[in-house]
Formats: sequence, C-alpha cells, structure tokens
Amino acid sequence: MSGTIRVPPPVNEPIFPYTPCSPERAELKAALNEMSSQEVDIPVIIGGREIRTGKTHEIHAPHDHGLRLGLWHEGGAAEARQAIADTLEAQREWASWPWEDRAAVFLRAAELLSTTWRARLNAATMLGQSKNAFQSEIDAACEIIDFFRFGAHFAERVFSQQPHSEKGVWNRTDYRPLEGFVYAVSPFNFTAIGANLAGIPAMVGCAVLWKPSKHAVLSGYHTYRLLEEAGLPPGVINFVPGNPVEITAAALEHRDFAGLHFTGSTEVFQSLWTTVGRNIASYRTYPRLVGETGGKDFILAHPSGDADAVRTAIVRGAFEYQGQKCSAASRAYVPASMWKGMKDQLVAETDGLSMGDPADFRNFVNAVIDRGAFDSITGYIRRAKAGADAEVIAGGRYSDADGFFIRPTIVHAKRPDHETMCDEIFGPVMSIHVYPDSAWSETLDIVDSTSPYALTGAVFARDRAAVREAMGRLRHAAGNFYINDKPTGAVVGQQPFGGGRASGTNDKAGSAANIARWLSPRSIKENLVPPTSYEYPFMAEE
Ligand code: NAD
Repeated sequence: MSGTIRVPPPVNEPIFPYTPCSPERAELKAALNEMSSQEVDIPVIIGGREIRTGKTHEIHAPHDHGLRLGLWHEGGAAEARQAIADTLEAQREWASWPWEDRAAVFLRAAELLSTTWRARLNAATMLGQSKNAFQSEIDAACEIIDFFRFGAHFAERVFSQQPHSEKGVWNRTDYRPLEGFVYAVSPFNFTAIGANLAGIPAMVGCAVLWKPSKHAVLSGYHTYRLLEEAGLPPGVINFVPGNPVEITAAALEHRDFAGLHFTGSTEVFQSLWTTVGRNIASYRTYPRLVGETGGKDFILAHPSGDADAVRTAIVRGAFEYQGQKCSAASRAYVPASMWKGMKDQLVAETDGLSMGDPADFRNFVNAVIDRGAFDSITGYIRRAKAGADAEVIAGGRYSDADGFFIRPTIVHAKRPDHETMCDEIFGPVMSIHVYPDSAWSETLDIVDSTSPYALTGAVFARDRAAVREAMGRLRHAAGNFYINDKPTGAVVGQQPFGGGRASGTNDKAGSAANIARWLSPRSIKENLVPPTSYEYPFMAEE
C-alpha cells in the first residue's frame, strides 16, 4: 500500500456521567454484579499461552474482605526469562509491520473500550482497586482511550520529524524501536498506567515484559485481554504478574534489557536504577530509564484567593480515590485570614463525605488498597492525634472490620515541618499549615523546600502579581502546576503528566517526549551523486 497515512485526529474521550437511569449506569451495574458473582482464574500470559504456575493468590475487594473475585498465578524468574525470550521473538515480526498496522491495533482497542469493553474494565477497576464509578471512568475508560488515540497521534508526529537535505543528498531518520525489550512495571492506583506503560512502547514496535502491581492484577488482566481482542499478536506484550523481586532481577540482568517504563514509589524506582547502574557493562545498549514516582503535592492559597475554590480543591484534590493518586493534594498552606472563614465549612464538608462500597454509587470515597496502606496511613493519624504539634480536626476514624476504610482526615499542622506536611502518606489525609498573611514570601520558600518531590502543585490567588511570583519561585517545585484549580485530574493531550526532583524523570506520560524514549533514531544519508575521486578542488595546481 502506498500513501502518506495519517491517524485520525485524536479527541479526548467524553466522560459518561452514570446518572440514575442512564444506560451506562445499568450496564456498569450489570458488569459489577457479574464480576462479583464469578471467580476468575488469572494466568501468566506468555506468547499468548496461559501459564498456571499453581502458586496462587486470592483477589479480594479492598472494601469487602468477604468478596473474593478470583485467583491469580504468580510468575517468577523462570516465567520472566521465558517472557523475555518470547517477546524478543515476537518483536521480529511486529517491528517489521507498517506503522499503520500497529497503530490500528491500539486504535481498535480504544474503540472497543469506548463501547463494548467499557463496563468490563470499569467494573474490574471498581472492584479490584476500590474506585467509585466516576474515578474508574476517568481512569480505566477515558484515560486508556486517550493514551492510545493520542499515542498514535504523537508517534506520527515524532516519525514526521525528518532532517534537512542539501543538494545531491537525501537525509532521512529511521525511528527504530529499542533493540531489546522494555520492562514495564506498573502501580496499583491507575488501570490506565498499566495500559500506557506496556502499550506505548509496544505501539512503536518495542518488545514488552509487563509486570503489573499485585493489587491491580484483575484490571491488568482485562486490559491485556482487550489488547488481544484488538489484534495484538501473541508475545508482543507478555503479562507476568508475580514476585517483583525475582521478575525484576531476571529482567535487569538480561543482556537485552533496553528500557524501564516504571510508575510507582520513589524508593523502588531508585533501587531499580541502582541495579541497572551496577549491571551497566553487561547490556547490549544503554537502557532508557523512565520513571514517574512519588509526590507531596501542595495547595498554596494567597490571601487574595477565593476561599470557596480553595476549600473545594482541598476536598476533591485530597480525598478523591482516597488520596491514592500520585497527584493528590496532601499539604496545604492557608493564610490565617482565609482560614478563619473556611475552617468550619471545610471540616463539615469533609466529615460529610459518604464512604463505603463503590458498587453503591452514593459513595464518594471507598477503601484504601490493602493492609499495608491501612496500617501506614493510620499510623500517621495516630501520631498526629498523640503529638502536640498537630491536631486532627476532621475524620481521624478508621476500621478494617469489613474493608480497609479510613475516614477522610484533616490534620492541622502547627509546624510546617510536621511529618504530615513532609511525607508522602498516599491516603485520605490532608495536612494544613496556617501561615500569617504577612508571611507569603517565606511560605513560598517553605513550599519549595519541604519535600524532595516535585510532582503537582496549585496556587490560588486573584492577585496576578502573586500568581506570577508563585510561578517563578516554585518553578521547579512541580512538573504539573495549577493556577486556581486542584492539582489532580491531568488529561492526556492537555496537561502532559510527570514531575521532577524525586518524583521522576518527567518524561511526560502520554506525550511525544515519552514516545521518543522508546525509539532509537538511525540517521540515513544517501548520496544521490557520490564523488568518484578522492581529490578536493583546493588540491588542484595554480
Ligand atoms: P510500589 O512502588 O509499591 O509498586 C509499583 C510497582 O513496583 C509494582 O508493580 C510493584 O510490584 C513493583 N515493586 C514493588 N517492590 C519492588 C521491588 N522491590 N523490586 C521491583 N519491583 C517492585 O507503588 P504502588 O504502591 O503500586 O503505587 C503507589 C506509588 O506510585 C506512590 O508512591 C505514587 O506516588 C506513585 N505513583 C506515581 C505516579 C506518577 O505519575 N508520578 C502515578 C501513580 C503512582
């Protein structure tokens, strides 16, 4: 086939509202019922083959200990090595396909997810990761669709960047997929991140070993099946849930390890980077390391800010998905003049948030992901209650009797260096420091220097000079910076997402910059009229 092919112009997937009596609500409820009443047996999938290792783990809904959703089989070093061999084999054929055939697989996956697969992926995310319908919709449906549609668009844009040619010469750039495989390691909190980490390198021709989080195996499995249904050939992406230490060791010691596409905690990313550094002489190529990690995301209110907007940003930014978003607001700096008028309503709104099972659509917040998260988050709440430097003014209650439920909690931190102002808690805990109105300038320094992270942040001000000052002084404090808006909810193609400092390599998920990381350009010069003598004109006799 000849022709300069263009992928369809991308548009962000509309968010379904799931209002009572809407068809999407009925369909989602049916999918939730079906998935809750059947147990799935999830294998490792290598080269399209289902492998049941027999080392199984039960999948329970975080919000209901009694709801068993199925089992998954744990992969280890042997499965990882097999997956690497199979993906490298599959890549020979896959990378040789015309670009548009590869793009078509992902565009078809986006279309299936937009229609017949939507309820399935949303239900798996709601049940397995305890997300309400809206939080699931913006993640498992809309963001995956956006990653694939915009991914194809940005890849096309990267491929179209071609060099200048002088007379007699034709220069070209061949955008080769990485030579070797990409190791995609995804976190529990977004189904879309797994789809993106594994899917985007594959879209541009790479071989992929995908290790999902043990807490997102259910949604990861359905994501894999979606890609398979869309026509992804066996082996291009191999799905290997399992022992992270064993699988990682097998991947990072392999000669053909060519890239790491990671999202998760800073500590784990740094340990993987250290291992890569230690093994560096053993690889065929220098691996690309892309990691998006933790955050301690801030809301900074200026005395000129709109108190209602700040309050709403705190409630939505801190407590949606129980604060388990890397972008979730978890520290706020509020001027004393604003705090006086805001505190009571903020506390009342926070204490009024409905909490419970995501299948009951009236609930705003659901459960945190597991026992480890529950213990760690409640530890912060207990210490805040016990210490003199902080006061728990909203929430502060929790129970693991039925599921891992923690009430949205607000800590009033008397000191800006209280642990709740500094650590990534990754739960429904918002820590607020009230500063004297006259200390705006010092507060900017505190916001900038309190945490090693630099993921998201928001400033609220009506005074434009204050916005400008915050933009300048906090330039490196956040990779995603919001003015008069909450620091969560980045949309693919609109606010490319990623942070600097300890928050990651800032390669911006869902952007052309990210896609370029999975490509190794080959510069080709073709001389249309090659010289036939070694002598240059200056060598001629006078
Ligand atoms: P995590 O670090 O516990 O796990 C992430 C992945 O790493 C999982 O697949 C896990 O199995 C794997 N892993 C864990 N220990 C490992 C080890 N020793 N060796 C190799 N792999 C290992 O993170 P999580 O709890 O799943 O997710 C929450 C974290 O992710 C938070 O810190 C959050 O800020 C971060 N996050 C960041 C972004 C971003 O875009 N910056 C997005 C989502 C989540």
